[in-house]
Amino acid sequence: MTYKMELINLKKSYNNVKVLKNLNLTVNDGEFLVILGPSGEGKSTLLRTIVGIESLDGGKVTVGGKDVTNKPPNKRNIAMVFQNYALYPNMTVYENIAFPLKMERIGKDKIKAKVNEVTKLLKIEDILNKNVTKLSGGQKQRVAIARALVRDPALFLLDEPLSNLDARVRYTSRQELKRLQKELNYTFIYVTHDQLEASNLADRVAVLHNGVIEQIGKYNELYEKPATKWIGDFIGTYPMNFIDGGILDYAGKTIGFRPPWTKNGNDIKAEVNLIENSEGNYYVHGNVNGNSIVIRTTEKYSIGDEISFNLTKFNIYNNGILEDVKLTEYYKNENL
Ligand code: ADP
Ligand code: MG
Repeated sequence: MTYKMELINLKKSYNNVKVLKNLNLTVNDGEFLVILGPSGEGKSTLLRTIVGIESLDGGKVTVGGKDVTNKPPNKRNIAMVFQNYALYPNMTVYENIAFPLKMERIGKDKIKAKVNEVTKLLKIEDILNKNVTKLSGGQKQRVAIARALVRDPALFLLDEPLSNLDARVRYTSRQELKRLQKELNYTFIYVTHDQLEASNLADRVAVLHNGVIEQIGKYNELYEKPATKWIGDFIGTYPMNFIDGGILDYAGKTIGFRPPWTKNGNDIKAEVNLIENSEGNYYVHGNVNGNSIVIRTTEKYSIGDEISFNLTKFNIYNNGILEDVKLTEYYKNENL
Protein backbone atom coordinates (compact mmCIF):
# COMPACT_ATOMS: atom_id res chain seq x y z
CA MET A 1 0.00 0.00 0.00
CA THR A 2 1.28 3.46 -0.82
CA TYR A 3 -0.05 6.96 -0.28
CA LYS A 4 0.52 10.55 -1.22
CA MET A 5 1.61 12.86 1.59
CA GLU A 6 1.07 16.59 1.90
CA LEU A 7 2.82 18.93 4.30
CA ILE A 8 1.06 22.27 4.51
CA ASN A 9 2.57 25.37 6.18
CA LEU A 10 4.50 23.42 8.83
CA LYS A 11 5.88 25.57 11.64
CA LYS A 12 8.21 24.51 14.44
CA SER A 13 10.41 26.53 16.81
CA TYR A 14 12.69 25.59 19.67
CA ASN A 15 13.23 28.37 22.23
CA ASN A 16 12.31 31.07 19.73
CA VAL A 17 14.58 29.61 17.05
CA LYS A 18 12.40 29.00 14.01
CA VAL A 19 13.42 25.64 12.52
CA LEU A 20 10.46 25.12 10.15
CA LYS A 21 8.89 28.29 8.70
CA ASN A 22 5.74 27.56 6.71
CA LEU A 23 7.22 24.53 5.03
CA ASN A 24 5.21 23.08 2.13
CA LEU A 25 5.92 19.78 0.37
CA THR A 26 3.97 17.15 -1.56
CA VAL A 27 5.34 13.62 -1.80
CA ASN A 28 3.81 11.44 -4.51
CA ASP A 29 2.60 7.88 -4.25
CA GLY A 30 5.51 5.45 -4.67
CA GLU A 31 8.06 8.24 -4.87
CA PHE A 32 11.62 8.13 -3.53
CA LEU A 33 11.92 11.69 -2.25
CA VAL A 34 15.22 12.82 -0.76
CA ILE A 35 15.33 15.80 1.59
CA LEU A 36 18.81 17.24 1.28
CA GLY A 37 20.35 19.91 3.47
CA PRO A 38 23.39 20.68 5.60
CA SER A 39 23.54 19.62 9.21
CA GLY A 40 21.39 21.72 11.55
CA GLU A 41 18.83 22.82 8.92
CA GLY A 42 15.99 20.88 10.58
CA LYS A 43 15.86 17.62 8.61
CA SER A 44 15.45 15.39 11.67
CA THR A 45 12.99 17.85 13.20
CA LEU A 46 10.89 17.67 10.04
CA LEU A 47 10.77 13.85 10.11
CA ARG A 48 9.94 13.80 13.83
CA THR A 49 6.98 16.12 13.28
CA ILE A 50 5.73 14.05 10.33
CA VAL A 51 5.82 10.81 12.31
CA GLY A 52 4.27 12.61 15.30
CA ILE A 53 6.89 12.17 18.02
CA GLU A 54 7.39 15.95 18.00
CA SER A 55 4.44 18.36 17.96
CA LEU A 56 4.00 21.15 15.42
CA ASP A 57 3.43 24.82 16.26
CA GLY A 58 1.26 25.09 13.15
CA GLY A 59 0.39 23.45 9.86
CA LYS A 60 -1.12 20.23 8.62
CA VAL A 61 0.11 16.74 7.66
CA THR A 62 -2.09 14.59 5.42
CA VAL A 63 -1.51 10.98 4.35
CA GLY A 64 -3.66 9.58 1.54
CA GLY A 65 -5.90 12.65 1.82
CA LYS A 66 -6.54 12.11 5.56
CA ASP A 67 -5.49 14.70 8.14
CA VAL A 68 -3.18 12.96 10.65
CA THR A 69 -1.86 16.14 12.32
CA ASN A 70 -3.46 15.42 15.69
CA LYS A 71 -3.11 11.64 15.66
CA PRO A 72 -0.59 9.83 17.88
CA PRO A 73 2.42 8.26 16.10
CA ASN A 74 1.06 4.71 16.17
CA LYS A 75 -2.16 5.81 14.43
CA ARG A 76 -0.46 7.55 11.51
CA ASN A 77 0.62 4.45 9.58
CA ILE A 78 4.07 5.98 9.09
CA ALA A 79 7.29 4.09 9.91
CA MET A 80 10.59 5.78 10.71
CA VAL A 81 14.14 4.46 10.55
CA PHE A 82 16.30 6.53 12.91
CA GLN A 83 19.86 7.63 12.24
CA ASN A 84 21.22 5.60 15.18
CA TYR A 85 18.74 2.76 14.35
CA ALA A 86 17.29 2.82 17.92
CA LEU A 87 17.21 -0.99 18.22
CA TYR A 88 16.21 -2.56 21.56
CA PRO A 89 19.58 -3.66 22.94
CA ASN A 90 18.48 -6.57 25.13
CA MET A 91 16.61 -8.31 22.37
CA THR A 92 17.53 -10.60 19.49
CA VAL A 93 17.09 -9.59 15.86
CA TYR A 94 13.85 -11.60 15.72
CA GLU A 95 12.46 -9.93 18.85
CA ASN A 96 13.35 -6.47 17.55
CA ILE A 97 11.57 -7.01 14.25
CA ALA A 98 8.56 -8.72 15.88
CA PHE A 99 8.15 -5.98 18.50
CA PRO A 100 5.84 -3.58 16.58
CA LEU A 101 3.50 -6.49 15.72
CA LYS A 102 3.49 -7.73 19.31
CA MET A 103 2.40 -4.26 20.41
CA GLU A 104 -0.56 -4.58 18.05
CA ARG A 105 -1.48 -7.91 19.71
CA ILE A 106 -1.13 -9.92 16.52
CA GLY A 107 -1.05 -13.74 16.86
CA LYS A 108 2.29 -15.56 17.18
CA ASP A 109 1.99 -17.51 13.94
CA LYS A 110 1.10 -14.43 11.97
CA ILE A 111 4.05 -12.55 13.50
CA LYS A 112 6.39 -15.37 12.59
CA ALA A 113 5.20 -15.44 8.99
CA LYS A 114 5.56 -11.68 8.63
CA VAL A 115 9.02 -11.56 10.24
CA ASN A 116 10.16 -14.40 7.94
CA GLU A 117 8.90 -12.49 4.93
CA VAL A 118 10.79 -9.27 5.69
CA THR A 119 13.97 -10.94 6.89
CA LYS A 120 14.11 -12.89 3.62
CA LEU A 121 13.67 -9.65 1.72
CA LEU A 122 16.58 -8.06 3.60
CA LYS A 123 18.70 -11.23 3.58
CA ILE A 124 19.12 -11.44 7.35
CA GLU A 125 17.52 -14.85 7.99
CA ASP A 126 20.81 -16.24 9.32
CA ILE A 127 21.14 -13.72 12.19
CA LEU A 128 17.63 -13.91 13.68
CA ASN A 129 18.80 -15.30 17.01
CA LYS A 130 21.72 -12.92 17.50
CA ASN A 131 21.59 -10.18 20.11
CA VAL A 132 21.53 -6.86 18.24
CA THR A 133 24.52 -5.54 20.18
CA LYS A 134 26.65 -8.18 18.38
CA LEU A 135 25.82 -6.96 14.87
CA SER A 136 27.88 -4.96 12.39
CA GLY A 137 26.70 -1.50 11.33
CA GLY A 138 25.35 -2.83 8.05
CA GLN A 139 23.39 -5.59 9.81
CA LYS A 140 21.93 -3.16 12.35
CA GLN A 141 20.75 -0.95 9.52
CA ARG A 142 18.97 -3.89 7.84
CA VAL A 143 17.30 -4.89 11.10
CA ALA A 144 16.08 -1.31 11.58
CA ILE A 145 14.63 -1.32 8.07
CA ALA A 146 13.05 -4.75 8.59
CA ARG A 147 11.41 -3.50 11.79
CA ALA A 148 9.96 -0.57 9.84
CA LEU A 149 8.78 -2.78 6.95
CA VAL A 150 7.07 -5.38 9.11
CA ARG A 151 4.04 -3.15 9.79
CA ASP A 152 3.33 -2.50 6.10
CA PRO A 153 3.13 1.25 6.67
CA ALA A 154 1.88 3.73 4.11
CA LEU A 155 5.06 5.79 4.27
CA PHE A 156 8.66 5.35 5.29
CA LEU A 157 10.76 8.08 6.80
CA LEU A 158 14.50 7.39 6.84
CA ASP A 159 16.86 9.69 8.73
CA GLU A 160 20.39 9.40 7.26
CA PRO A 161 20.20 5.59 7.46
CA LEU A 162 23.54 4.98 5.75
CA SER A 163 25.67 7.65 7.40
CA ASN A 164 27.12 5.32 10.06
CA LEU A 165 28.37 2.76 7.53
CA ASP A 166 31.77 2.64 5.89
CA ALA A 167 32.08 3.58 2.22
CA ARG A 168 31.79 0.17 0.52
CA VAL A 169 28.87 -1.02 2.68
CA ARG A 170 27.19 2.31 2.11
CA TYR A 171 27.52 1.80 -1.64
CA THR A 172 25.90 -1.68 -1.64
CA SER A 173 23.24 -0.68 0.92
CA ARG A 174 22.29 2.26 -1.25
CA GLN A 175 21.63 0.01 -4.23
CA GLU A 176 19.65 -2.49 -2.13
CA LEU A 177 17.52 0.23 -0.59
CA LYS A 178 16.65 1.65 -3.99
CA ARG A 179 15.76 -1.79 -5.36
CA LEU A 180 13.60 -2.57 -2.32
CA GLN A 181 11.71 0.70 -2.61
CA LYS A 182 10.99 0.25 -6.32
CA GLU A 183 10.10 -3.47 -6.07
CA LEU A 184 7.64 -2.92 -3.23
CA ASN A 185 6.49 0.43 -4.64
CA TYR A 186 6.77 2.13 -1.26
CA THR A 187 6.83 5.87 -0.65
CA PHE A 188 10.18 6.85 0.87
CA ILE A 189 11.10 10.17 2.43
CA TYR A 190 14.82 9.92 2.91
CA VAL A 191 16.87 12.56 4.69
CA THR A 192 20.58 13.11 4.02
CA HIS A 193 23.28 15.78 3.89
CA ASP A 194 25.10 13.69 1.25
CA GLN A 195 24.61 14.82 -2.37
CA LEU A 196 25.89 11.57 -3.82
CA GLU A 197 23.14 9.69 -1.99
CA ALA A 198 20.62 12.25 -3.17
CA SER A 199 21.69 12.01 -6.81
CA ASN A 200 21.81 8.21 -6.78
CA LEU A 201 18.62 7.46 -4.87
CA ALA A 202 16.12 10.21 -5.48
CA ASP A 203 13.27 10.48 -7.94
CA ARG A 204 13.19 14.10 -6.74
CA VAL A 205 15.39 16.03 -4.34
CA ALA A 206 13.93 18.68 -2.00
CA VAL A 207 16.52 21.06 -0.60
CA LEU A 208 15.79 22.23 2.96
CA HIS A 209 17.23 25.65 3.78
CA ASN A 210 16.13 28.37 6.18
CA GLY A 211 13.10 26.39 7.31
CA VAL A 212 11.54 25.91 3.86
CA ILE A 213 12.00 23.75 0.77
CA GLU A 214 14.10 26.16 -1.29
CA GLN A 215 13.99 24.04 -4.46
CA ILE A 216 12.58 20.68 -5.49
CA GLY A 217 13.30 18.72 -8.66
CA LYS A 218 15.45 16.04 -10.24
CA TYR A 219 19.04 16.22 -9.05
CA ASN A 220 20.18 17.28 -12.54
CA GLU A 221 17.75 20.19 -12.53
CA LEU A 222 19.20 21.40 -9.25
CA TYR A 223 22.71 21.07 -10.69
CA GLU A 224 21.93 22.79 -14.01
CA LYS A 225 19.46 25.44 -12.84
CA PRO A 226 19.90 26.19 -9.15
CA ALA A 227 17.00 28.46 -8.20
CA THR A 228 19.22 30.50 -5.87
CA LYS A 229 22.92 31.25 -5.48
CA TRP A 230 22.79 29.37 -2.18
CA ILE A 231 21.65 26.16 -3.96
CA GLY A 232 24.27 26.66 -6.70
CA ASP A 233 26.92 26.86 -4.03
CA PHE A 234 25.56 23.87 -2.07
CA ILE A 235 24.90 21.44 -4.98
CA GLY A 236 27.79 19.95 -6.96
CA THR A 237 31.21 18.53 -6.06
CA TYR A 238 32.47 22.02 -6.80
CA PRO A 239 30.27 25.01 -6.00
CA MET A 240 28.85 26.93 -8.93
CA ASN A 241 31.16 29.81 -9.95
CA PHE A 242 29.67 33.25 -9.48
CA ILE A 243 31.00 36.43 -11.04
CA ASP A 244 29.39 39.69 -9.98
CA GLY A 245 28.60 42.27 -12.65
CA GLY A 246 30.95 43.76 -15.16
CA ILE A 247 31.40 40.74 -17.44
CA LEU A 248 29.48 39.80 -20.57
CA ASP A 249 27.45 43.04 -20.29
CA TYR A 250 25.47 41.98 -17.25
CA ALA A 251 26.18 44.90 -14.95
CA GLY A 252 24.33 44.65 -11.64
CA LYS A 253 23.67 40.92 -12.09
CA THR A 254 25.61 37.79 -11.17
CA ILE A 255 26.77 35.22 -13.73
CA GLY A 256 26.78 31.61 -12.52
CA PHE A 257 28.52 28.72 -14.28
CA ARG A 258 29.80 25.23 -13.48
CA PRO A 259 33.50 24.29 -13.92
CA PRO A 260 32.78 22.20 -17.09
CA TRP A 261 30.72 24.94 -18.81
CA THR A 262 33.83 26.52 -20.35
CA LYS A 263 36.02 26.23 -23.45
CA ASN A 264 39.11 27.98 -24.78
CA GLY A 265 38.47 31.59 -25.77
CA ASN A 266 39.15 35.19 -24.88
CA ASP A 267 36.02 36.40 -23.06
CA ILE A 268 37.20 35.86 -19.47
CA LYS A 269 40.76 35.88 -18.10
CA ALA A 270 42.14 34.78 -14.76
CA GLU A 271 45.49 34.12 -13.14
CA VAL A 272 45.92 30.49 -12.02
CA ASN A 273 46.47 30.19 -8.25
CA LEU A 274 45.73 26.49 -7.59
CA ILE A 275 45.50 23.29 -9.67
CA GLU A 276 43.75 20.07 -8.66
CA ASN A 277 43.99 16.80 -10.56
CA SER A 278 40.86 14.63 -10.50
CA GLU A 279 40.20 11.46 -12.55
CA GLY A 280 41.76 12.69 -15.81
CA ASN A 281 40.80 16.37 -15.55
CA TYR A 282 42.45 19.44 -14.07
CA TYR A 283 40.45 21.80 -11.90
CA VAL A 284 42.14 25.14 -12.30
CA HIS A 285 41.42 27.86 -9.74
CA GLY A 286 41.72 31.57 -10.37
CA ASN A 287 40.26 34.94 -9.64
CA VAL A 288 37.99 37.13 -11.82
CA ASN A 289 37.12 40.64 -10.59
CA GLY A 290 37.72 39.48 -7.01
CA ASN A 291 35.57 36.34 -7.38
CA SER A 292 37.22 32.93 -6.92
CA ILE A 293 36.39 30.57 -9.78
CA VAL A 294 37.27 27.01 -10.83
CA ILE A 295 37.20 25.65 -14.34
CA ARG A 296 37.64 22.11 -15.63
CA THR A 297 40.17 21.48 -18.39
CA THR A 298 42.34 18.70 -19.81
CA GLU A 299 45.20 21.16 -20.49
CA LYS A 300 48.11 21.51 -18.16
CA TYR A 301 48.68 24.87 -16.49
CA SER A 302 51.13 26.17 -13.90
CA ILE A 303 50.50 28.54 -11.04
CA GLY A 304 50.83 32.12 -12.27
CA ASP A 305 49.75 31.30 -15.87
CA GLU A 306 46.94 33.24 -17.42
CA ILE A 307 43.91 31.15 -18.24
CA SER A 308 41.50 32.47 -20.81
CA PHE A 309 38.09 31.00 -21.60
CA ASN A 310 34.56 31.42 -22.94
CA LEU A 311 31.35 30.12 -21.37
CA THR A 312 29.32 27.47 -23.19
CA LYS A 313 26.32 28.30 -21.02
CA PHE A 314 25.60 30.33 -17.91
CA ASN A 315 22.83 31.34 -15.53
CA ILE A 316 21.94 34.90 -14.57
CA TYR A 317 21.15 35.68 -10.94
CA ASN A 318 19.49 38.85 -9.71
CA ASN A 319 19.74 39.46 -5.96
CA GLY A 320 20.62 35.80 -5.47
CA ILE A 321 17.60 34.47 -7.41
CA LEU A 322 17.80 32.69 -10.80
CA GLU A 323 16.52 35.02 -13.52
CA ASP A 324 17.56 33.42 -16.79
CA VAL A 325 19.48 30.50 -18.36
CA LYS A 326 21.67 31.23 -21.41
CA LEU A 327 23.14 28.84 -23.95
CA THR A 328 25.92 30.66 -25.83
CA GLU A 329 27.02 30.37 -29.45
CA TYR A 330 29.82 28.07 -28.28
CA TYR A 331 27.30 25.73 -26.70
CA LYS A 332 25.26 25.56 -29.89
CA ASN A 333 28.32 24.96 -32.06
CA GLU A 334 29.52 22.21 -29.79
CA ASN A 335 26.20 20.46 -30.03
CA LEU A 336 25.81 20.53 -33.83
P1 ADP B 1 19.41 18.31 11.00
O1 ADP B 1 18.73 17.00 11.21
O2 ADP B 1 19.14 18.92 9.67
O3 ADP B 1 20.87 18.27 11.30
P2 ADP B 1 17.91 19.08 13.39
O4 ADP B 1 16.49 18.90 13.03
O5 ADP B 1 18.53 18.02 14.22
O6 ADP B 1 18.77 19.35 12.06
O7 ADP B 1 18.09 20.46 14.17
C1 ADP B 1 17.62 21.70 13.65
C2 ADP B 1 17.82 22.78 14.68
O8 ADP B 1 16.94 22.59 15.77
C3 ADP B 1 19.23 22.82 15.26
O9 ADP B 1 19.57 24.16 15.46
C4 ADP B 1 19.06 22.10 16.58
O10 ADP B 1 19.99 22.55 17.52
C5 ADP B 1 17.65 22.47 16.99
N1 ADP B 1 16.98 21.42 17.79
C6 ADP B 1 16.68 20.18 17.36
N2 ADP B 1 16.05 19.48 18.33
C7 ADP B 1 15.96 20.31 19.41
C8 ADP B 1 15.41 20.17 20.73
N3 ADP B 1 14.81 19.04 21.13
N4 ADP B 1 15.51 21.24 21.56
C9 ADP B 1 16.09 22.39 21.16
N5 ADP B 1 16.62 22.58 19.93
C10 ADP B 1 16.57 21.56 19.05
MG1 MG C 1 19.55 15.09 11.65
